[in-house]
Amino acid sequence: MKQSRKNFIKSSALLAGGLILSPQDTFARLLSSEPKGFKTLRENFGLFFERGGTIGWYVRNDFVMVIDSQFPDSVANFLTGLRKKTPRKIDILFNTHHHLDHTSGNFILKNNVLKIVAQENCPILQKQANEGTPRESEQVYADITFGTLWKQFVGNEIIKARHYFPAHTGGDAVIQLEYLNVAHMGDLVFNKVYPFIDLEGGGNIEGWIKFLDKCIDLFTRDTLIVFGHGLNEDHLYGNKLDLAYQRDYLSALMDYVKKEISKGKSRDEILLAEAIPGFEIMTGLWDDALKMNLNAAYTELGGQ
Ligand SMILES: [Zn+2]
Repeated sequence: MKQSRKNFIKSSALLAGGLILSPQDTFARLLSSEPKGFKTLRENFGLFFERGGTIGWYVRNDFVMVIDSQFPDSVANFLTGLRKKTPRKIDILFNTHHHLDHTSGNFILKNNVLKIVAQENCPILQKQANEGTPRESEQVYADITFGTLWKQFVGNEIIKARHYFPAHTGGDAVIQLEYLNVAHMGDLVFNKVYPFIDLEGGGNIEGWIKFLDKCIDLFTRDTLIVFGHGLNEDHLYGNKLDLAYQRDYLSALMDYVKKEISKGKSRDEILLAEAIPGFEIMTGLWDDALKMNLNAAYTELGGQ
């Protein structure tokens, strides 16, 4: 049974469901000795999934980076697993954007983190989203921010974070490790599921399409890319073909809504669509996910 996005954010039932492992899976994990929820993707880079946006990690003897922090409870489990890989403090915690399933765990990690980096709009939007809520006192914000490009050299590695346009929110960043040829997209990719488009949080669908185009140009065929959300735990990483699919879905969504508006259809009539042509296989992680996408496209196109 599906749920509201709010409840999805609270429970992330999809990912929790992903943790119900078959005996074979459990056996495979015992053999691999990966901490629970961890998956190594390339050398010393990998992901962690439990509840909320996928965490990325990069662990070296001289440097540790973590990308996004999920929720306090799940990030505590992450930290326990990370301690099996390294006793080192986290040199950099990166927030890909302000949503609470990517930043709520900052509070738990803060004593283990030297600095938090994010795009400059991220802490502003985080503050706005949490002001006057019970979560306000537990917000921990990025202390280093950037506009369009941030980079750091670590040994033979060059880490770069980029922001091109308002997209999923107004403060998204994509992080790339050039030497390893890996990246973390945050929520710029909801892999094969209807994305959440946060217009109130500064998001913009046309900007999102252009942002993905830039990343498709930037990456090679072999770039291994982590996504904020996906259909299941095997869809939390992929390559730039998945970025193209996300871009093409957003383009098709805009084209569809434009066409319906030009036929004289009302917002309510447009929201009745059951699929976007060509993307019938897409599903939602929460109730009314497609309706929310249609509504966002209608609003962005200036519909009344
Ligand atoms: Zn998000």
